[in-house]
Amino acid sequence: MALSFFRAGALALSLLPLAALVPRTPSHPTSTAAAPLQGAKPDPQVIAQFGLFENPKLQQYIATQGKKMTAISDRPGDYGFTIVDSPVINAFATPDGHVYFTRGIMAYFNNEAQFTGVLGHELGHITARHGQKQQTRSTISSILLAGASMVSKSIASIAQPLSSVVGIGLLKYGRDAENEADQLGVKYSTKVGYDAAQMADFFLTLERTEKASGAGSVPGFLSTHPNSADRYQRVKGLAAQAKQSVGGRALTVNRDAYLRSIDGLPYGEDPRQGFVEGGTFYLPEQKLRLPVPSGWKTQNTPEQFQMAEPNGKAIVALIAAGSGTLDAAAQSLAKQLGLTSPSAQQTTINSFPAMVVEGDQAASSQQSTPAHVRAYLIQDSKSIYALIGLAPTASFGTYAPQMASVAEGFQRLTDASKLNRQPERIRIKTATGTTTLASALAASGVASSRYEELAILNGMKTTDRLSKGMLYKVVGK
Ligand SMILES: [Zn+2]
Repeated sequence: MALSFFRAGALALSLLPLAALVPRTPSHPTSTAAAPLQGAKPDPQVIAQFGLFENPKLQQYIATQGKKMTAISDRPGDYGFTIVDSPVINAFATPDGHVYFTRGIMAYFNNEAQFTGVLGHELGHITARHGQKQQTRSTISSILLAGASMVSKSIASIAQPLSSVVGIGLLKYGRDAENEADQLGVKYSTKVGYDAAQMADFFLTLERTEKASGAGSVPGFLSTHPNSADRYQRVKGLAAQAKQSVGGRALTVNRDAYLRSIDGLPYGEDPRQGFVEGGTFYLPEQKLRLPVPSGWKTQNTPEQFQMAEPNGKAIVALIAAGSGTLDAAAQSLAKQLGLTSPSAQQTTINSFPAMVVEGDQAASSQQSTPAHVRAYLIQDSKSIYALIGLAPTASFGTYAPQMASVAEGFQRLTDASKLNRQPERIRIKTATGTTTLASALAASGVASSRYEELAILNGMKTTDRLSKGMLYKVVGK
């Protein structure tokens, strides 16, 4: 797969995170199944895909709790623990010894014991070496690369990797591995002093979010796991046994402390990282906007914004392409994309200096379709952006006008309502008297259409009673 569009070399060289625009160099080579444990640091591929959640306090919290649990686990080692900046509800472990939680799942826990149970489950996948036993899906980075290389191998299948990469549920373990991880989750969280029965309750929350979201933002965590009703019963039973095994020792839940620690956490998509609305992609931090061709699918990650024709027959990707000259960026891009006899032409796009780079990408294997690339390099002060249009050579002309209109619509964003768009955030409130959750939500100004959503977020029913002084979550700007 030498000529894949998003190959590792290209990622390392030029796909800077749009949100950060800081040059990045790989901190270690792509890991492989045979590599020794190196999980102390997060995998750059995972961070490139989802982004690091910029919240030192919570990062410190997960690292501290993770290390504490590692020490009492069956196979202590130099593991790492990281929260990624994704609204999806998920947690996963890579076989190199790293555990990832999304900020989305952090928002849905309702106490420290729930968090600790899931931490134990993920650590269990590592200590029981589930990843190593599963050679075909050895690391998350290799899965991401495989998914991405499918894009160029068969342009017709672009739509598929686009939709499957959106969730993080990429590592699928078998039923036995999941059951073992649940068992280890109960064992480890009890050992560090938490009530493992809370972990079972969190499965109910996961099940409710999955039912509520329908085909939308499906949490991958649950879908990759065994039947949730069975699992709930099983974990409840294991937790009760574990409780007995520690005698009369009180096990911690820590509801209030946990809720206060997530006060202010972004909830849902963060528009500051770019958002699509009304057929336009807005990048508030870069003060830029561009049109999305009608009906095309989009995917926004820290490293690129990708638009795909509905049947996957053409794509346009926006990436950051360095901070040097347009000439240098053009040469570098042509090389990364493996363009044969590329041409380059200077132009101007909405008063931005620009250059059009064009060439063919040869077919790399039997499954490959030869592709044609037309990339627009656009300079905005010190930053250069590349809008890369790609389609099979034979049908490139069909999509060239749409690619051109995207480039022509690349312009300065000045609309304050888009520039200042803020994410919703978790806000922790205190019940002022005995009341139902629904009444408390109403008193906090929550629209009734969102009661059910917030009941799930609180791990309660709308009719559940709150006593005076009890904390609960709402969301707001
Ligand atoms: Zn699992």
